[in-house]
Amino acid sequence: MTPTKVRVPYLDLRVQDKAFKAELLAAVDTVLTHGRIVLGPEVAEFEKAVAAYCGRKLCVGVNSGTDALYFALRSLGVGPGDEVITTPMSWIATFNAIRLCGATPVAADVREDMNMDPARAAAAITPKTKAIVVVHYNGLLCDMEALEAISKKSGVPLVEDAAQAFGAVRNGRKAGAFGRVAAFSMNSMKVFNSYGEAGAVLTDDPKLADKLVSLRYNGTINKEECIFPSLNGRLDTMQAAMMLRVLPRLGAKLARRREIAALYGKLLKGVVELPVEKVTDDHVFYTYVIRGDRRDALITHLLENGVENKIHHKTLMTSQPAYADLPKRDLPVAEKTVKRILSIPNHEGLTDEDVRYVAGLVRGFYGA
Ligand SMILES: *Cc1c(COP(=O)(O)O)cnc(C)c1O
Repeated sequence: MTPTKVRVPYLDLRVQDKAFKAELLAAVDTVLTHGRIVLGPEVAEFEKAVAAYCGRKLCVGVNSGTDALYFALRSLGVGPGDEVITTPMSWIATFNAIRLCGATPVAADVREDMNMDPARAAAAITPKTKAIVVVHYNGLLCDMEALEAISKKSGVPLVEDAAQAFGAVRNGRKAGAFGRVAAFSMNSMKVFNSYGEAGAVLTDDPKLADKLVSLRYNGTINKEECIFPSLNGRLDTMQAAMMLRVLPRLGAKLARRREIAALYGKLLKGVVELPVEKVTDDHVFYTYVIRGDRRDALITHLLENGVENKIHHKTLMTSQPAYADLPKRDLPVAEKTVKRILSIPNHEGLTDEDVRYVAGLVRGFYGA
């Protein structure tokens, strides 16, 4: 169901700032003019900028977050017979990347904040465990101190699926700076976005980076000799050129998202469960997720009043038909949570009045 008349859109991908649009078009024009379309100079420039931003040594640009995850796991040698521990709450790309390596995804339950419970992850480790993929869900960083301690103790490397958390900071470290390898998506909906599809893999290890460069181009070295099978996942030069114009504006965008989150928090405290009590730098609010009873009726109420909304993501990865063959795991928190979550509009195009309108509808629905 879509609202008859949209008053507050969930997301608006139009570029409405004229000066910024001109910058983006100029970036594309530069690429068309120099003609180095495939892995042009803007790709290397983007990789340098992203590595520097995240405090990492190396970055390999790829064409999606899904590719980024798949290549990250392949770079660590994840393959048939291996198990990879992850969360049940993510976009399905996380499970798919694991399974496409030939490995088995093993879901460890989340905590109330919807991020992986480190104790559950530790308990899921077996001799077959090859990696732990953490997902900073909705843009909130995981309990990385606990997860790093588990990784250190067990020798199992951490991989960050940081697709939703570009720019989030925990104890001075940015999303993407934690795992042995970290994967980002810059698809058009993400907080740090392209205008199409894009992704990146970060690491400090030059050997892994070399492997990632081969992995993103059919497992080749020197563009000729194929040393292992892979896909074509190169980052598009025009997207890189545009993202170089987006990056300097990211700080303002994150600040506005946090402002919106703080306002929602003030207006909805005590009415619904909020994403976090206090808005800090460790959350970039890729989505603003509230939780409450009668969620499905609330969806209808919002739509009837012109407010688009989404369940993000509606189905646990473990419940997807493609994974019906996996043994059932004990996931009480995730199973309870997924029935109660709802993402309400929080993009930077919203005015405070929009936020008040949405919050007012939620308050009204719960009789607050
Ligand atoms: C978006 C997303 C991905 C996949 O990224 P794409 O660029 O769309 O392929 C992977 N994991 C998570 C958590 C995501 O949100």
